[in-house]
Amino acid sequence: MAATDCTLLDILDTNWKRRFRTRLLAWYVKHQRDLPWRRSSDPYRVWVSEVMLQQTQVATVKPYFQRFVKAFPSVRKLASADEQQVLRLWEGLGYYRRARGLHAAAKQIVAEHGGKFPRDIATLQTLPGIGRYTSGAIASIAFDERVPILEANTTRLFARLINYREDPTRADGQRVLWHTAEDVLPRKKIARFNQALMELGSLVCTPTSPRCGKCPVASLCAAREAGSQESIPLAERKTKYTDVSEAAVVVRKKGQVLLRQCAEGERWAGLWDFPRFGIDSEGPLIVRDELIAKVHHQTGIQIDPGGLLKTIRHGVTRYRITLDCYQADYTGGRLRSTKARPLRWLPPPALGELPLSTTGRAIAKIVLNTRHRPTALLCRF
Ligand code: SF4
Repeated sequence: MAATDCTLLDILDTNWKRRFRTRLLAWYVKHQRDLPWRRSSDPYRVWVSEVMLQQTQVATVKPYFQRFVKAFPSVRKLASADEQQVLRLWEGLGYYRRARGLHAAAKQIVAEHGGKFPRDIATLQTLPGIGRYTSGAIASIAFDERVPILEANTTRLFARLINYREDPTRADGQRVLWHTAEDVLPRKKIARFNQALMELGSLVCTPTSPRCGKCPVASLCAAREAGSQESIPLAERKTKYTDVSEAAVVVRKKGQVLLRQCAEGERWAGLWDFPRFGIDSEGPLIVRDELIAKVHHQTGIQIDPGGLLKTIRHGVTRYRITLDCYQADYTGGRLRSTKARPLRWLPPPALGELPLSTTGRAIAKIVLNTRHRPTALLCRF
């Protein structure tokens, strides 16, 4: 059987591939999950589900998928939707660039392809947010095109099957594993085969403690034979986290609160948020001056900062953020609202209609549940 330095052809001979396909498909017939996006091969639904599933668990995606396709049942409906509505339905899933990419791609499909999904991967890859994996998933699952797929589950599965001990995320690893994904493809029933691969990776060949005793292809697995399945794929380098201090300010004026829309290039572009920025100062009096200066810089108005409402600790990519949420009263000045950086005063109940980041939504709940007290009564500063 295979060792690490065997060539792919040593491992994936015709007999191996025949047995692998037969066992995988027989297992899939019995064990596939009933997932909402599997009930049709509509390319639109395949696409939405694949984009949602990037970096997100199946259980989390299910309700989001159902709400999304109910609101936008076709690519044309999505293309004609308001971006704020798209982002509101995406709220909580994170990685909002995915939602904006879906929306932009839907518009492009309507404008350039008459609302019909392209079938070939080269054309699919000209659409925003669609790369090699997503184009392969759409072409193979929706159109049964004979193209490979490689995502997190199949990367792990193939790396173990061929006992690939190097880093699968590097260029060499990607080349080997894409080649493997292509090499194992049967001539027909590609949709079923590619979904079966992902399902086996997800349910049996799991990241930790793979269930080799229940695996239909265990006798074909080089890592199992070498006893190396637990150490493949090679562990990713540990992320180095950076600690960051930020402040968000709930500015009130005559029963309304101030919101700003995050601009292109910002962390939550397209979403709405309370004035928010990094904080350098320590000590209440210096923080107060910094809040006044930074709210003015971001919005053009003057404020009288009040007390601390809450501290929220959260992570965004490699940043560990301590977010202090303050309230403040408007004291003067005109909002510097522009098309690229809109600002709005809103009554708190209207916050429910805007797409907010997860921490923005947490602050909005505090705003809705907290009776405003004049800042003078708060003793933080
Ligand atoms: S035998 Fe184990 S390591 Fe190999 S494919 Fe099956 S579950 Fe994965």
